[in-house]
Amino acid sequence: MTDQTTSAALRRIAPSRTNAMTDRAIELRAAGRDIISLSVGEPDFATPAHVIEAAKAALDGGQTRYTAVAGTAALREAAALHFARDLGIVVPPAQVIVTAGGKQAIFEALLATLDPGDDVLIPSPWWVSYPEIVRFAGATVVDLPTKAAGGFRITAAQLEAAITPATRWLLLNSPGNPTGATYPAEELAALGAVLRRHPRVLVLSDDIYAPLRYGAGAHATLSVVCPDLADRVLTVSGVSKSHAMTGFRIGVSAGPAWLIAAMGKLQSHNSGNPCSIAQAAATAALAGPQDFLGEWRERFRTRRDRVVAAINAIPGLSAPLPDGAFYCMVDAAPVMDRFGDDEALALHLLEHGVAVVAASAFGGAAGFRISFAADDAALDEALRRIATALG
Ligand code: GLU
Repeated sequence: MTDQTTSAALRRIAPSRTNAMTDRAIELRAAGRDIISLSVGEPDFATPAHVIEAAKAALDGGQTRYTAVAGTAALREAAALHFARDLGIVVPPAQVIVTAGGKQAIFEALLATLDPGDDVLIPSPWWVSYPEIVRFAGATVVDLPTKAAGGFRITAAQLEAAITPATRWLLLNSPGNPTGATYPAEELAALGAVLRRHPRVLVLSDDIYAPLRYGAGAHATLSVVCPDLADRVLTVSGVSKSHAMTGFRIGVSAGPAWLIAAMGKLQSHNSGNPCSIAQAAATAALAGPQDFLGEWRERFRTRRDRVVAAINAIPGLSAPLPDGAFYCMVDAAPVMDRFGDDEALALHLLEHGVAVVAASAFGGAAGFRISFAADDAALDEALRRIATALG
């Protein structure tokens, strides 16, 4: 009989619960059930036509072979343009790596730098994959809990208290998934003042939702607010969320040369280059017109407002207004005694035709996350179903 024991590293992790719920919704739909999926963070907008044309041209032009592992020269240049234009991060293309989605960049950066005994600080609620990747790497997750009342942001004092000689990384995600938490420049400067005293700590700045900010002012990011720390910040971005290109699987990251090289070394043995066609499409996305992004953001803002208003009108549910991204964290504590735990609540909502992700998947409790990157009619119907399910 085959020994089916998996590695100790794999046994330390759970499957992605955002992906699991989305797969479940797809299965149920295939079986004929009417399910509205608000479980995955994926814009419903059509991928822009010029991006599709670029993908077709790449196919027709024979761009069907290996590219450089870290990405084509054209995409690394377009990514460097994006970092400078949209985030204010000025780096040469050599300090950019292209990955199969932002997720692969995070995986590579952590796997390439963590050893057993290292700690990684993660503000919670967190994106599902952060702690799992840390555990897979054999390092220890240190939870920095945040609350809705504090805008789901950590404070400088909280950071200072959590750092020890074992701390290797701080993971920052602004605007954040699943809370929409968005750090203003002055709060990043305060975090930077703490980090300055602890030179061993690296920072992963996950800026994938940067174009989706609903407040006033420009996007703030650590390596711009604290340029002296830029040599230990990896900034992750991509086209999935901004340009409605989730299926293309293209992420772009900028960081210090040694870390980009370390990630490339790992990538050379893992996926090799990201898909050549998808890279051509992403080049068009990042180097081409950006004017539609403002209109998309305003549509997301309208959806955010109607979703949060509808949630707060359902007895037992409440949600703060997220500052960015396209998620809303719903607190369902007053109704939890009817369900036991939030996974049971999410399954109950699925029975009523709405797929959401339980808050515990994000290190939260007693609630669920809604992605409002769905069309207005679907959102309205989903909220009606949630109200009925809890009525
Ligand atoms: N990041 C998205 C989400 O949180 C996509 C799914 C995933 O990779 O987790 O829904």
